[in-house]
Amino acid sequence: MDKPVQTPANGHEHSNTIPVINPATGELVGKVNRGTAADVDAAVAIASEAFPKWTAKDGTERAKVLFGAAALVRGRQAYLAGLLSREQGKPLKESKNEIAGFAKILEYYASISGLLKGDYGHSSAYGHAIVSRNPLGVCGAIIPWNVPAIIMGWKVGPALASGNALILKPATTAPLTCIQLAGCLVEAGLPANILQVVTGPGPVVGEAITAHPGIRAVSFTGEVATGRRVALLASPLFKRVTLELGGSDPMIVCKDADLTVAAKGAVAGRFFNCGQTCTAVKRLFVESSIEEEFVHKLQTLIISLKVGNGLESDVDMGPVHSLAQRRLISGQIERTIEGGFGKIITGGKEMKVGDYTGSFFEPTLLSGLDPEAPVMREEVFGPVLPVMPFDSLDDAISAANNTQFGLGASVWTHDSRIISRACEELQAGIVWVNQHLKLPPEVPFGGTKDSGIGRENGRYALDHYLEEKTILIKP
Ligand code: NDP
Repeated sequence: MDKPVQTPANGHEHSNTIPVINPATGELVGKVNRGTAADVDAAVAIASEAFPKWTAKDGTERAKVLFGAAALVRGRQAYLAGLLSREQGKPLKESKNEIAGFAKILEYYASISGLLKGDYGHSSAYGHAIVSRNPLGVCGAIIPWNVPAIIMGWKVGPALASGNALILKPATTAPLTCIQLAGCLVEAGLPANILQVVTGPGPVVGEAITAHPGIRAVSFTGEVATGRRVALLASPLFKRVTLELGGSDPMIVCKDADLTVAAKGAVAGRFFNCGQTCTAVKRLFVESSIEEEFVHKLQTLIISLKVGNGLESDVDMGPVHSLAQRRLISGQIERTIEGGFGKIITGGKEMKVGDYTGSFFEPTLLSGLDPEAPVMREEVFGPVLPVMPFDSLDDAISAANNTQFGLGASVWTHDSRIISRACEELQAGIVWVNQHLKLPPEVPFGGTKDSGIGRENGRYALDHYLEEKTILIKP
């Protein structure tokens, strides 16, 4: 592996490192610094010094750096995708798309960074009214391990395009690709110390970022419980916070839908990234009259998924990211089955693939579920698809909304009255029709209820990183 391009708070000596392990093979992929609160202090200090140089550049100059970095990332796609698969476990084809997705996000923000502007008005009473929109200074970002490159893009793109400095804490178990991506930005001309990656344990480095008085805003993606902790630590400082938290997305399939397309959509939507996606299809509601046929289609597709080491060809699904994560999923299924809340159609167990020691899990289909089943009430972050029948649209919408989460939701039908009701009544930050999981860089993304606050992606994300100042000039 190449040497990481940028390490925490330049020049700090660390006695401690943290190994990064390939979840398919158990092999060591690399090591990163076990950062401390002192590293965060040092990073903030040098970022504050560097900030004026970056913010002084106009939008087109910042765009040049972002476009340049995107080109470097695209040129290194094969290497970066291999690294991502080794540290995260996902199949190479998914990693390639994710790396290209990171480049696309940078290109999107580059393309709008020259257009950032405030507002102007005039009246004889107060004269000229100018509203300028200004970067905040040093911001913080904390990201999870499941889709590290894309989520890094969602934070780095708008933060840098709007002229801020950013301290980024990647997940401890998947930090290496993020370090390399940050390196591409530096190589493309980003001034030193404007983007710093500080690795280390969440309760240490993440909390230091959240509670640091020199960091004006924090964008967090991760679990609900961690999000609550971030909100608690940030609020006494009146710090801006976006929280992109968990989800338990419902997918509603009506009897008039194209069932073959919908079954493929459900399987892609659930088993992509081994089910470890915030907006994965986590609860599937199928109209009773088509349930049997639809479950049969799902079963056929699911048993044909090839599980293996993400680096090998034709693999559809890699391992669960860690042994701890796998234990959690096994427990959720056990409690569901042993409690009499549902039955297994296929899968349901931890599995072994060849001689690998990794944390593989069988692609699982469950049916006959009680609404109180653990797999329906909790977020299941793994390859488990629970199916429930419904008799009326009222029932489907009310069951879909019967959750603490509100991230995404989809409805599969060609009936315009159903589409219109579902779009209006489903409680979610994003509602898809006849698709699930697609997320172009232009549209806002975020949740309602326990899925979080604030929006990322699109021009809306810039609001988190810009502050208005009103200037009234009486000539
Ligand atoms: P975690 O909340 O465990 O971790 C996320 C990040 O927070 C990691 O970098 C972690 O560091 C850090 N962290 C841990 N403890 C603290 C703390 N006390 N203070 C500050 N930071 C801390 O989430 P997971 O990594 O397990 O990610 C999975 C979750 O993320 C799922 O619930 C998923 O739905 C959600 N998610 C939401 C998305 C969205 O956009 N809504 C997108 C993708 C995932 P460390 O790695 O060192 O523990």
